[in-house]
Amino acid sequence: MHDYLTRRDYLKAAGLTLAACTVSLPATAAAAQAKPTMPNMIVIFTDDLGYGDLSSFGHPTIRTPNLDRMAAEGMKLTQFYTASAVCTPSRAGLMTGRLPIRNGMCSDKRRVLFPDSAGGLPKTEITIATALKKHGYATSCVGKWHLGHLPEFMPTNHGFDEYFGIPYSNDMKPSPLVKNLETIEEPVDQHTLTKRYTAQAERFITANKDKPFFLYFAHSFPHVPLFASKDFEGKSPRGLYGDVVEELDWSVGRILETLKKLNIDKNTVVFFTSDNGPWLTCNIRGGSAGLLRGGKGSTWEGGMRVPTVAWWPGTIKPATINTDITSTVDIFPTCLDLAGAAMPTDRIYDGFSLKETLVSGTKAERELLFYYRGTKIYAVRKGPWKLHFITQAGYRDKPHKQDPPMLFHLDHDPSEKYNIAAKHPDVVEEIIADVEKHKATVKPFPTQLEKRIPKNKKG
Ligand code: MG
Repeated sequence: MHDYLTRRDYLKAAGLTLAACTVSLPATAAAAQAKPTMPNMIVIFTDDLGYGDLSSFGHPTIRTPNLDRMAAEGMKLTQFYTASAVCTPSRAGLMTGRLPIRNGMCSDKRRVLFPDSAGGLPKTEITIATALKKHGYATSCVGKWHLGHLPEFMPTNHGFDEYFGIPYSNDMKPSPLVKNLETIEEPVDQHTLTKRYTAQAERFITANKDKPFFLYFAHSFPHVPLFASKDFEGKSPRGLYGDVVEELDWSVGRILETLKKLNIDKNTVVFFTSDNGPWLTCNIRGGSAGLLRGGKGSTWEGGMRVPTVAWWPGTIKPATINTDITSTVDIFPTCLDLAGAAMPTDRIYDGFSLKETLVSGTKAERELLFYYRGTKIYAVRKGPWKLHFITQAGYRDKPHKQDPPMLFHLDHDPSEKYNIAAKHPDVVEEIIADVEKHKATVKPFPTQLEKRIPKNKKG
């Protein structure tokens, strides 16, 4: 049995306060106060989906009607970034609201965790699930975890009531399907994965419709190898990659439909985004960053700017296009703010709450964005400007030090074509000073990605 406050309990308690307030407040203010408190929150996280892979983000042949409708009914965030251009550190940033450099979830040698890794997200880190569970939320993680597959690092030991998914990337062997801590299928049949993840997510939503919940739904696709179910295979003009993305779109449609059917859509905030840009070295099996330069593994825009939509019917103004600089590290403070939970005060956070941006359209607070690769800062964005200190063309290419650094104006030049550093030495200097200020706040945590399980032990 859960001992959460049910939504009815909570609203009953809140109703007393509201009744007292309405005596002196005008009708509109009273209505504003009646907005759902402790809304449900869902983060749908895809793997390696590029900025240009949805029809609403410009893809000419991949059809994503559900995501397009989600954007039409909600907010499209066109300058939303991940904490890293590869899986593990990106997920660490999302889950903790902190840059991976602060929790050891990055390395210059091993970019991500592998099945022989002995490390994971440190127990000292607070995940969104831990924080929300403490605040009365039911919590579930469905899909790819990739923050440590040994029991102590698994979702059920990081604040989630339940887990169902592959604990790392779908190209890593063995590929087990795990329920909580138990392997239930190995190797998993990946053709049915998106469907089974979706069924699990729908089950959790339905079971928790009367109490606040947080669902972290992290798809294993369109990371390679690509698999679609029979219903989608061979259907997209874009080929198998398109089939896979169209099935993900179907899944999003199912989730939104379930919320509507249960009549909890107005109480539920849904974010849709991706963990990093498209894996361009996979050629036709990889996605597209659209007009952005670079892809997965790179700190060019295509590596870290991802297609993002927020949906909250009745609260977010439909068809909003938000061009503020926002990030996955903003999700943690946003979720806590929406829940009415206080931020922990014993550590540094890198995110800002987007609550007012979603509710009232207020400009997001972020001015600076750091593009880390491993433990190093490769680039920095400040307002429309982006300064590159080191660049790397693709996933496996060598890094190139840019001396002097290269400067681009992203609002004018989203494809990063025209280096205008020579014309703006003052901007370059200002950003270099910002980097020094930022570095002074960072005490790097020892990397957790290089620890390995001894060969004679099974992970
Ligand atoms: Mg990824």
